[in-house]
Amino acid sequence: MSILKFILKFILKFILKFIQILKLNLSKFKVIIPIRCFTCGKPVAQDWEKYNEIVNNGKSPKDALDELGYNRACCRRMFLSNVELIDRIAKFKNFKK
Ligand SMILES: [Zn+2]
Repeated sequence: MSILKFILKFILKFILKFIQILKLNLSKFKVIIPIRCFTCGKPVAQDWEKYNEIVNNGKSPKDALDELGYNRACCRRMFLSNVELIDRIAKFKNFKK
């Protein structure tokens, strides 16, 4: 019975570690816009600032993406779904470790 408990504990520890790693990776994805579109591989990061500028000048995100020439839905979602959290997260970064 003790061997079974030991194995169960080991598996639980492994699963918890895996979840921690997953959470870290997920938080990394939210920080800045990915360099390339996940689906088709077209580079998108170089237009992120232009996109923000156009949207901040009062145009809709649809018009901004049309203007920048992003026709595929997979590339458009890279812009529309991106949340920039780098400034918020950078405050809590511990550089001493
Ligand atoms: Zn794409």
